[in-house]
Amino acid sequence: MLKVVKFGGSSMADAGQYRKVRDIILSDPARRVVVVSAAGKRKKNDHKITDLLYLCHAHVRYGVDCTSVFDMIASRYLQIRDDLGIQLNIEEDLASLKRQLQAKTVTQDELASRGEYFSAKLMAAYLGFQFVDAADWIRFRMDGSVDQESSYALLQEQVRGEGVVIPGFYGLMPDGHIKTFSRGGSDITGALAAAALDADLYENWTDVSGILMADPRIVENPRAIPEVTYDELRELSYSGAQVLHEGTIFPVREKNIPLNIRNTNAPSDPGTMIRESFDTDADPDRFITGITGRKDFSIICISKRGMSNQVGVLRSILSVFERHNISIDYAPNGIDNVSLVMPTEAIGHCLYTIIGELQQEIQPDTLDVIDQISIVAAVGRKMAFRPGISGKVFGALGEAGINIRMINQGPDELNIIFGVDNRDFASAIRVLYNSFVK
Ligand code: ASP
Repeated sequence: MLKVVKFGGSSMADAGQYRKVRDIILSDPARRVVVVSAAGKRKKNDHKITDLLYLCHAHVRYGVDCTSVFDMIASRYLQIRDDLGIQLNIEEDLASLKRQLQAKTVTQDELASRGEYFSAKLMAAYLGFQFVDAADWIRFRMDGSVDQESSYALLQEQVRGEGVVIPGFYGLMPDGHIKTFSRGGSDITGALAAAALDADLYENWTDVSGILMADPRIVENPRAIPEVTYDELRELSYSGAQVLHEGTIFPVREKNIPLNIRNTNAPSDPGTMIRESFDTDADPDRFITGITGRKDFSIICISKRGMSNQVGVLRSILSVFERHNISIDYAPNGIDNVSLVMPTEAIGHCLYTIIGELQQEIQPDTLDVIDQISIVAAVGRKMAFRPGISGKVFGALGEAGINIRMINQGPDELNIIFGVDNRDFASAIRVLYNSFVK
């Protein structure tokens, strides 16, 4: 049995968190491959090491002295080491990094990667595990994608049964330079390690007890989702839930490795288990897995009499958006009308040009733009083939006086998506949560 365990920034923030991480790892001999993030925030107004590293690089780029920021970074790691009594010299590595930085010979990616590097060095020494550098096995191609085959083979050569600690977030380009993933990318490192080693489970340890059924800024103390499928998770994150880095799922899903989100600060909570499918149903009465949404969408409504009988109108409309590289999120339609829904931010810069082109090429009877729309999604694999679910959802919203501006549901019935005015966003989510979850 092998579990790959990844600990995020808040789990690596200080000596106290390191102790919790060690207890978690040592409580289960299957937890032998550990991936760590850079130290995150210790409290609300603290700084993440990765942010400070980017800040250092910006200082140097603009010719401003970065000593004070660099020293903040160095002292965070030295303090963790000393608080835990770890015997490891990191002073030399830190001093050489500072020299490189001042000589401007370190790239932004390489500098940003050092947060994870120092975390992993310290954690490896603390646990008595072997340090395996991500630069020694994660291989990017020139286009920035991960070469899974060679990366997996390289990791397999280096992990031989004993415990290892790997820094997250970076790998090596074919030209030998370090490249980082986008922010939050240590999740991907963990997923790649799990896939490379054919792990039985990928545990992703964070500071919440799993994926929550709704945004805690909107719903007070929402429940965690015990079980969610990869498809549901995709729907939840697309519609707004911030869970894992989006590149995380692919490597583990490909190898059918379950993913468990856990809380370092509440290690006995079961967290959220993510799998392709579930054989049994832990909670048969609950048909909604999660409720999520995003604000600030625009709807462009186009109507033209006889449109439904004309071949190619939809294609002409869509090609206008394609020319401007605008991706359309939803396209609900009626007989002689169609509405295109996308984030306002995405269309803002070319809205008037697009309207002009639509007028000219489609010659619609009416063309309206509605702003300040929120999209809300009720996601649940168990909604499929259950009559009456959407009736209940819309009934609850109607009773609460919430007007629905748009409805969208695909034939897989994995979700019910609807648009409301921005001002009704929070109440729509609360109404659904209180009606179907509590
Ligand atoms: N430390 C990096 C960040 O803050 C990567 C990670 O933690 O996943 O984005």
